[in-house]
Amino acid sequence: MIKAKFRGEMVSVEEFLSKATPRYKERGIYAKCPMCHEKVFVRGGSSPSSPSCFFHQKKDVSSSSLDDCSLAERGDNRLHSLKPDEWDFGQVDSLYKKFDCIENRRSTYNFMEACCGSNGFDKESFMRCLARANKRNIWAYKGIKLWMVPYILLTLENFTNKKGYSFHFVIQKPSLLWSKPELCSLGKVFSSNGDMMNTLFRYTQDGAEKAFSNPLSFSKEHFQLLSGTAINK
Ligand SMILES: [Zn+2]
Repeated sequence: MIKAKFRGEMVSVEEFLSKATPRYKERGIYAKCPMCHEKVFVRGGSSPSSPSCFFHQKKDVSSSSLDDCSLAERGDNRLHSLKPDEWDFGQVDSLYKKFDCIENRRSTYNFMEACCGSNGFDKESFMRCLARANKRNIWAYKGIKLWMVPYILLTLENFTNKKGYSFHFVIQKPSLLWSKPELCSLGKVFSSNGDMMNTLFRYTQDGAEKAFSNPLSFSKEHFQLLSGTAINK
């Protein structure tokens, strides 16, 4: 991790050490991860081939990788790519406030339920997704729009449908492009082998069966269609 949060600012290792000094541990002064808020430590910098960086404390990640920080690079974490291009801490309160009203929560829930299909989603899984999103500080991802939040929430849980098979969602995106959501897509995969499922969502219209393709490209229009209601901008 090239930058960490120190006294409210994102700083490089050099900037951190200039204030905290190399004796930062003895002094009890630490930079923190902007995602999970854990203390982070300084590594490298002794040669050009090992540039300095911040790293998380090593620990055994025996619990679900869904609960580990994407920036910690611990273990086989399918959410390693779920991180911001840049941080915008100033947008957190306004974005969360927009999200946190009954209409938007309902739209988000409807969208997620539609993507999961019947009996694959419930209020408890919705709350777990939201808690993990808060823990990951997704509200500070620069460029995130309100309608993109449900796509992200879906990746933060493991689901099982009524037939008993497990599935989950993955976001396919070129690195560092939250600002271009049209290049991102949401894939629904079998958890057993990672294979893409045939369709993301089936529905009947005028007596004909229709389906949304899988993966589904990120778009506000898809969000509105699947949530069945317009989210406040
Ligand atoms: Zn972290």
